[in-house]
Amino acid sequence: MKKYDVVIVGAGPAGLKCAETLGNSGKSVLLVEKNQKIGPKVCAGGLTGKDIAYLNIPNELIEYSYNEVLVHVNGVTKNIQWDENFAYTIDREELGQWQLKKLQVFPNIDVRMGCRVNKITPEFVILGDEEIAYDYLVGADGSNSIVKRYLGFTNPPQGMGIQYIIPTTEIKKFEFFFDSHYFSAWYAWIFPHREYASIGCGASQKVLPAKELHKNFHEWLKKQKIDISNAKYEAFPMNYDFMGIEFGNIFLTGDAAGLLSSFTGEGIYQALVSGEEVAKMILTPGYASPKIPELIHKHKRHREILDKLIHARKWQNTLFLGGLFLFNFKKYREKAINLLG
Ligand SMILES: Cc1cc2nc3c(=O)[nH]c(=O)nc-3n(C[C@H](O)[C@H](O)[C@H](O)COP(=O)(O)OP(=O)(O)OC[C@H]3O[C@@H](n4cnc5c(N)ncnc54)[C@H](O)[C@@H]3O)c2cc1C
Repeated sequence: MKKYDVVIVGAGPAGLKCAETLGNSGKSVLLVEKNQKIGPKVCAGGLTGKDIAYLNIPNELIEYSYNEVLVHVNGVTKNIQWDENFAYTIDREELGQWQLKKLQVFPNIDVRMGCRVNKITPEFVILGDEEIAYDYLVGADGSNSIVKRYLGFTNPPQGMGIQYIIPTTEIKKFEFFFDSHYFSAWYAWIFPHREYASIGCGASQKVLPAKELHKNFHEWLKKQKIDISNAKYEAFPMNYDFMGIEFGNIFLTGDAAGLLSSFTGEGIYQALVSGEEVAKMILTPGYASPKIPELIHKHKRHREILDKLIHARKWQNTLFLGGLFLFNFKKYREKAINLLG
């Protein structure tokens, strides 16, 4: 039976970053991806300044940069501006291919695409009919994580994100729409890309079951007069049920760990950071990550904000409007961008 020191399941941002951090480390690493191509993922491709700083990505990968976004609350619109750029869009396929390319220089890393891990035991994983032994196993396999299920977590469906990918070069503005009538405590977005725009929304399935969200989204699209006749529909679960990172020689990262924000739906940053930090934990047993507690703290704060908004029910739009008003004050704006971004 073939053996690797580390088997990473899933080549999204978390798995790719974990593999990169293990590059040239002396550990043999296998990165396994079920899809034939690395990168494509149901995602709006929106990033904040901290993602850009962390990723250090080349400029050509950034599709649009913004120092202002339009926020609409139940018909009231505000242009939120900042001194420097704070919102960006990237294409997920390009991000994945760029991360993958970085791995080519590392002789200790093997990447297998079109390979699904369909069984896990304490000693090995099974890919197709091949058994591969591991010392460390990293679950970087997203919201439907098989590694998380193997660890005994039920992984119930939580959030759901849905979007239309509209082929267009005309949509240029970065926009958020809050209206509790359609999205309860969540929101809809328009994120422009070079060749298309992502127009979508998300919600917790407990509060707005997928069918209801889908129906509300279509009513909202109609009201906004958004033409979806040439668009591609996509939907994907969003797992924000955080259960932990380290389980002996098995680790969870990114969406598999449930690190995605329950409030904003942002998850790329958490995936990258947790992927890197887990690699460091493997390389230096006992390594106390300074960044994981920060991620967990923010994750909890977003959950608290969301829970408060859900309980506010008929006052949700009033709270959104109050929040929008506070954006007139620089100090609050700074705090809010820091908390949400
Ligand atoms: C509609 C929508 C919009 C979003 N928009 C944004 C946004 O604008 N900004 C943002 O920051 N986040 C956004 N997110 C969240 C973001 O997409 C995720 O948080 C991020 O992709 C998590 O990265 P990851 O590496 O943990 O998992 P993923 O990107 O999901 O990668 C997991 C990988 O594992 C592979 N895999 C799964 N199971 C197996 C298996 N058994 N064997 C082998 N491979 C496997 C998958 O094919 C996949 O490539 C959005 C999510 C949704 C649903």
